[in-house]
Amino acid sequence: MSQMPEARRLPGSEWLKDHPRILEWIYLRSKAVLGRLYPWMRRLSPGWTERLFVRSEEWVKGYLFNCQMCGQCILHSTGMTCPMNCPKNLRNGPCGGVRADGHCEVIPEMPCVWVQAWERSSRMAHYGEEIRLIQPPVNRQLEHTSAWINMFEGIDARTPPGWVPVELEIETSGDP
Ligand code: SF4
Repeated sequence: MSQMPEARRLPGSEWLKDHPRILEWIYLRSKAVLGRLYPWMRRLSPGWTERLFVRSEEWVKGYLFNCQMCGQCILHSTGMTCPMNCPKNLRNGPCGGVRADGHCEVIPEMPCVWVQAWERSSRMAHYGEEIRLIQPPVNRQLEHTSAWINMFEGIDARTPPGWVPVELEIETSGDP
């Protein structure tokens, strides 16, 4: 799947991403349903199940989020905005190059993924606070595998030795 700036996303996907509560609701329901189905599907046919998940993610998440199939999905922690669309592939952002208009320094016509992630997170009911988590380095060995399966199997939660999750203390109040 080729990289495509969010500014050129397909019809409907931008509207949905700007309503992250709807996507959050869909995520929670999908997680519950797929979490129950997956063990049965894996028992019936692991290979078929994997292919079905991978193809579905390529199509659905590709359309909605311009998913780059990193295999370690953190959409719900980043305002339902895919961090792999950042031209620098930052898992923790933004970088220091955001323009005054909130656009990307690498692709000026594209809104900064991390500015969008921050704004959308503030509109989420359940996972909005997770934008403050510092994400571990992405495991490139999981590219083009199913993020859902990696989550159900606990593979995406494996972090490099010594890594400890950290919560950022971000000052959001303008008061002294
Ligand atoms: S975080 Fe990874 S799996 Fe999730 S949408 Fe982005 S590229 Fe796809």
